[in-house]
Amino acid sequence: MTNWQGRNITVAGLGVSGISAARALAGLGASVTVVDGGSSPALRERAESLETEGISVRLGDAENLPEGTDLVVTSPGWKPTSPLFAAAAKAGVDVVGDVEIAWLLRGPDAAPWLAVTGTNGKTTTTQMLASILSAAGLRTAAVGNIGTPIIDVVLSEEPYDVLAVELSSYQLHWAPSLRAHSAVVLNLAPDHLDWHGSMEAYAADKGRIYEGNRVACVYNVADKATEDLVRAADVEEGCRAIGFTLGTPGPSQLGVVEGLLVDRAFVEDRHKQAQELAEVGDVQPPAPHNIANALAAAALARAYGAPATAVRDGLRAFRPDAHRIQHIADVGGVAYIDDSKATNTHAAEASLAAYESIVWIAGGLAKGATFDELVAKSAKRLRGVVLFGADRALIRQALARHAPEVPVVDLDRTDTGAMLEAVQEATRLAHAGDTVLMAPACASMDMFTNYNQRGDMFAEAVRELGAASA
Ligand code: ADP
Repeated sequence: MTNWQGRNITVAGLGVSGISAARALAGLGASVTVVDGGSSPALRERAESLETEGISVRLGDAENLPEGTDLVVTSPGWKPTSPLFAAAAKAGVDVVGDVEIAWLLRGPDAAPWLAVTGTNGKTTTTQMLASILSAAGLRTAAVGNIGTPIIDVVLSEEPYDVLAVELSSYQLHWAPSLRAHSAVVLNLAPDHLDWHGSMEAYAADKGRIYEGNRVACVYNVADKATEDLVRAADVEEGCRAIGFTLGTPGPSQLGVVEGLLVDRAFVEDRHKQAQELAEVGDVQPPAPHNIANALAAAALARAYGAPATAVRDGLRAFRPDAHRIQHIADVGGVAYIDDSKATNTHAAEASLAAYESIVWIAGGLAKGATFDELVAKSAKRLRGVVLFGADRALIRQALARHAPEVPVVDLDRTDTGAMLEAVQEATRLAHAGDTVLMAPACASMDMFTNYNQRGDMFAEAVRELGAASA
């Protein structure tokens, strides 16, 4: 195990993961300085509390490397182009993330990691996986990009059997020695390219999740890029490539046959046998992309040895977090769905594919995305569209090109209150049997604090509508 005694460590970022890293490393005898560019009262309060524990904090300067630093531990959000990292490179000092530290802090008998990444579906799949592992009677937790900081879980006094670990591309970028038991890349679509610099660099960071896998590299049969990443990875002898598909599974795949989730990978004879795992209806919501998430979670759980009954029970017990294709209400025969978490076009495409006749509420910050493919693929399902937000013109133009007959209401608004008007306009366009789907395909920060607030405002507007029509 690494000796931390007396090492001079700089932690970048005074957030939840930075504080957890600072405390853990100081506890192991390192001399820790946390740096953060901000200096708000909230940060100052956190700084004071850390300083009483013997941890130095420097606020208002995120750029200069503290004298004598021999390792930088970064928080996930910091860009690789941050001046602090340039200073570290110049001084010959390594930069790693909180996940790397957690990995290095594991004891010899530590719980293995089942790791999940992908452009969309990470949180849902990781939580489904943890639910399945719990149903198998294992002590587990969903960690990484979610829940309790991963360092705290690794150092927990009560040991875990196995961990379900969600990893963002940023965390993978900064975790060079991570070696998972088994891992999945759910899908790969352009996102966060401003952070990674290019699609190739983004894919390469995602692909690191397969490096050194011991039992299974799980990929998406419908997304060849994920299979390519498996091929490129250097894995342990005997590690298998396992595909998941919404179609009939071939040998070494999990898939769907006549409404059943079926395993043709973790059975005695994969050429002749198939094991029934669950019914499609056991997955909530049973939208196609969510069935794919369930299959990926099942593959990782089965790689770890979970029985088929645990997959069924775990999926039945699982409910997705709020704002992920969340059914808010039925008003006048119209269903209102909050998919505020659809912050990119790939996610919105998945939820638009889940309904037949849709009034779509969309718009916000496009983050450099284009909308032609999304609109072209979804055009036949659109009853109407209501647009708001800073980059709505991009969506309007794509609609004019690929769905000219679909009625579009452009609210020309970027204020928080626009949500109420959007819901009213969507209701006007909807017929009984339709779905009003708020899956904006954009980030929310031009109008809302975050996607949670955007979703809450939608639900509030729907409730007002319900009260008015009652
Ligand atoms: P992440 O943690 O990767 O952001 P979430 O599980 O929170 O993923 O889901 C975010 C959004 O992505 C959902 O609201 C849904 O719109 C979409 N989504 C979920 N799973 C998938 C998938 N497998 N493929 C495409 N889109 C998905």
